[in-house]
Amino acid sequence: MTNNTSDQEAKNWKQQYFDHLDLLDQKEKEWRALESILKKTVLRLSIAAEGQHATIDRHLQDIRGLVKKQLNAVRLENSLEEISAVLLKLGDRQKLVDRKVVSTLQQLLESIVLPETFSKQKNKLIKKLAKASDEKADVLVAEFQSLLSAAIKHETGDSPAAKKQGFLHNLFASNDSAKNKTRDIRPARHDEKQERSSKTTVPENFSAERIASKQKTHNKSREPSAQEILVRLLEQLSVPSDLHEVVDNLKKRIKQESAGSNWKPLLKDIAQLINTLRNRMQEEKHEFETFLQQITGRLQEMDGFLLRENAALTEAEQAGGVFDAAVSAQVQDIHDDMNTADNLDDLKSKVEKRLNVVSDHIKQYRINEQARYSSAQQNVENMQSRLQMLEQESGELRKLIREKNKEAMMDVLTEVPNRLAYEKKGAEEIARCNRFSVPLSMAVWDVDYFKQVNDTHGHKVGDKVLKAVAQLLSARMRETDFIARYGGEEFVMFLPGTDEDKALELADALREKIAACKFSHHGGVVRITVSCGITSFVAGDSHESMFERADRALYAAKDSGRNRCLTASSLD
Ligand code: GH3
Ligand code: MG
Ligand code: MG
Repeated sequence: MTNNTSDQEAKNWKQQYFDHLDLLDQKEKEWRALESILKKTVLRLSIAAEGQHATIDRHLQDIRGLVKKQLNAVRLENSLEEISAVLLKLGDRQKLVDRKVVSTLQQLLESIVLPETFSKQKNKLIKKLAKASDEKADVLVAEFQSLLSAAIKHETGDSPAAKKQGFLHNLFASNDSAKNKTRDIRPARHDEKQERSSKTTVPENFSAERIASKQKTHNKSREPSAQEILVRLLEQLSVPSDLHEVVDNLKKRIKQESAGSNWKPLLKDIAQLINTLRNRMQEEKHEFETFLQQITGRLQEMDGFLLRENAALTEAEQAGGVFDAAVSAQVQDIHDDMNTADNLDDLKSKVEKRLNVVSDHIKQYRINEQARYSSAQQNVENMQSRLQMLEQESGELRKLIREKNKEAMMDVLTEVPNRLAYEKKGAEEIARCNRFSVPLSMAVWDVDYFKQVNDTHGHKVGDKVLKAVAQLLSARMRETDFIARYGGEEFVMFLPGTDEDKALELADALREKIAACKFSHHGGVVRITVSCGITSFVAGDSHESMFERADRALYAAKDSGRNRCLTASSLD
């Protein structure tokens, strides 16, 4: 009878022990589930952050690989560190492109003729500008201003030698005197231009980039007047819409300043505008940097979290092992007790004691597990909400980068791609031609007698006309065609898959459409015509060599009376 009771008790106890083993099993499953949630979250995060940069993508892929296989804290940390480094570098690269203000200042300074005594100072400042980024614009604008002030003081000083018609006169020379000095900056068209100038006496297009590049090889080219350069400077600044009016006003004032009387406040106001733009840019850059820092911080947080959770998992496994060993030891002791017990009561009390110890172990284990479990759950919840934020932020960052890239590639006035976009596209199109020998044509457009439009109707109307011409030119383009404002009143087109004859047909249709268009202004009508030069890709071409041919054809079209399209091959 007593034997039966102890049998029963032993069975009960065993049952209880197995139940606890089941419980352990279940705990382990819960841990696995937790780990898999963690892994999924990391995967989602890394997918959300993808697409910013090739190196980041590579590391994100690496992280995904690690997470899918096994959490390896050391490699994970390495990957995260490299991602942080790339993100910081991305921020740095942003700095490189911030040279708009200083490079425009440089062009401006290069174009101004200063009295002999200032040439050393001028060259020094040009060198400084060439090296500087817009970060230094404040200081350099101030230096620029003081150099000008000194030069002007020198010219207008009391000294009897001061000539009224010196540097000031040159700086704000009226267009008439500029015209007298007009010389061709395109050597290929030297003869033609002289012929033309008798008809039109127009100064050359003053696309600053082109002047800069042509001046290197042809020093004898005519210098654009400071007024032109100043207008150009204002046109090159991409100005937020709330400052458009300020810019328009400045342009108007520049044009009225041919007498050179009010130049000082005018220059001051231009410097002021540049400073305002620079400050805005600084703010934007700062925002961007803070943003990158935040993202880096979040990644580090995630890294820390994964390390902690990994440690917690190991700890839990160890605690389970200790618990298992303790229980096993008690079971062994019970076995031994059974063999060595003198009587049943003795055995009973011994077993009871052991069971109490086991029960205490289980209780303690449970308490520990519970605490661990709820802290882990809390951690996962915190991390999940942070991940959601990060996901949203990385989406915003991607949008921001996309917008910035787009802005940098667009011409603000005409709303078509700009010169920078053209250079990029040109390289792509040439690479494609070399790979797949499909035809590629290029058309270079120039508005006829555009200077007269400005002179007769004003710059504002000129701007409107440019915008309309850009629209008319882009209206009939196919999806693969491309148009950009090359500078001033010139546009350039890529027509992939189109040979020279077809390109000529298309260009003539566009030319006729523009000639037939009546641009209305104050009740009157402004008639506009355009001329165009066309060429097609031949083996060995770069987009620059194509442009040169098309440009020659364009000027042949100008010479044969304008409102014409000519192909380069028709010149031979
Ligand atoms: P041609 O038929 O030989 O091309 O004569 P043109 O007068 O069109 O040529 P020219 O290159 O001498 O003059 C171009 C003018 O375009 C000079 C410049 O004032 C004007 N211009 C350049 N950019 C802009 C701009 O953004 N807006 C306005 N309104 N005028 C511009
Ligand atoms: Mg032109
Ligand atoms: Mg023109």
